[in-house]
Amino acid sequence: MAQMRHMHPMVETYLQNLKNDDTGNVIPVKDQYYLGRLDMSDGPEDVSFVGQPGFGRRIVHKLTGIYSLHFLPMGFAQMVLLDTDFQKKYYNFTFVRREFLGEIRCLVIDVQPKEGQKVARFMGRIWVEDQDYNIVRFNGTYYPQPKMNFFFHFDSWRLNMRPGTWLPAYIYSEESNLKTGLSKTLHFKAQTRLWGYDLKGLGKSEEFTQILIDSPQSVQDQSDAAADATPVMAERMWEKQAEENVVERITKIGLLAPPGEVDKIMGTVVNNLLLTNNIDLQGDFHCRVLLTSPLESFTIGHTIVISRGLLDVLPDEASLAMVLSHELSHIVLGHRLDTKLAFNDKMFFPDEESFQRLDFKRNTADEEAADTKALELLKNSPYKEKLGNAGLFLKALEQKAPDLPNLIRPHLGNSFAGGKSIRMSSLLNAAPALDQKKLDQIAALPLGGRIKVDPWSDRVELSKAKPVALTSAREKMEFEITPFFPYLTRLSTGSAEKVALTTTAPSAPSQK
Ligand SMILES: [Zn+2]
Repeated sequence: MAQMRHMHPMVETYLQNLKNDDTGNVIPVKDQYYLGRLDMSDGPEDVSFVGQPGFGRRIVHKLTGIYSLHFLPMGFAQMVLLDTDFQKKYYNFTFVRREFLGEIRCLVIDVQPKEGQKVARFMGRIWVEDQDYNIVRFNGTYYPQPKMNFFFHFDSWRLNMRPGTWLPAYIYSEESNLKTGLSKTLHFKAQTRLWGYDLKGLGKSEEFTQILIDSPQSVQDQSDAAADATPVMAERMWEKQAEENVVERITKIGLLAPPGEVDKIMGTVVNNLLLTNNIDLQGDFHCRVLLTSPLESFTIGHTIVISRGLLDVLPDEASLAMVLSHELSHIVLGHRLDTKLAFNDKMFFPDEESFQRLDFKRNTADEEAADTKALELLKNSPYKEKLGNAGLFLKALEQKAPDLPNLIRPHLGNSFAGGKSIRMSSLLNAAPALDQKKLDQIAALPLGGRIKVDPWSDRVELSKAKPVALTSAREKMEFEITPFFPYLTRLSTGSAEKVALTTTAPSAPSQK
């Protein structure tokens, strides 16, 4: 906790309300989304809020909300903490056994609050690594449940992010029959992720607005000769400057992953599209990963951005090519970025206003033009024979969109399935019928199965988990959230840069 006081990680909670369908399967019928920054910095105020009146509320005040608040009063962020005053005198401990979590040998201990305490305390099981005795996982709830409110059950995981330092990274929460008040029953599952622990130069929220981004260096690099730019070159440089300002800004605040391996994979697909269509872009293009869950993609100048959530659920490379071809078309067709962003002062705004201040939506005409162009690019590409799955993905998306508006809703770009229209509907129409019972028809994957985020550095990489054969249609879990089972590893004191993580549950369905 003392360490976290100086850190301001991003906190994202995505929650799906569940219902039993006609066949007895549990399906998501509604969803909620929250993204914010956790701030536990201001002194003794937050030392002991567990079980205090307004528990949950207090910590909620410490979240700088970016948007959407519906579920927030119940406070998922509280679940990063076991107890602010975790002492032997308050608890009974029962040793259970030794167990490995990943490569970490742990002591497994059951924990129960002693009788007769006025405040609610943790009740459940803890996993303690056997070198420095850090708690690396805890699973349970708080007890006793308050009269007017309630605590969820949670499974909270910490990763070894610096030598000797284990910090919260994943929390899974689930309730199947929680009575809340007279008639309401809560049935949901939720994933909370934390990242952006090492955002350099971020102190208080006010300071975010002082980041000065200008790029005389990169502008110089663009011009090949020591001469003034021609008008056309100047215009291109101006657009480039706007693009760089935005990309740098949203990287700094922890929304965009730094350049890395996943960008290169996307870049290969884009190159395949360019080469087979004989297109010379007149300049570079870049691909980057937005670190959030909602499914979206957009372009900033010549930078194509795809969200982690979208990369997770896409079933195969051809469907990735479909998404990229649409964004690439915006670039090929010369659809413009609002160059007011080339003025550095336009970047001075508080982080939590990012989604209001930055908007990469295109008008309908541009969107339709990009769709048409994208189909043309795909038709000449190596993906042309493999677009069946891409069409299935769009079908599944169309089917789920009404129930999962917070997942299938963009925050910075255009909607995938907005209102009546769905992107590239001709692909959708050409696809075979969706068949929930067919095990070999995978229209979309669950969330969290493909992309791993390093919560310390925000770097992303592809999950190395091996595909698992599905045993029933229930395991398809298209667009759904699942529990976390990270493979824990320990940093050796020598290699401070290496961070251990993986997010794939053993039961994750097969992926190609
Ligand atoms: Zn578009």
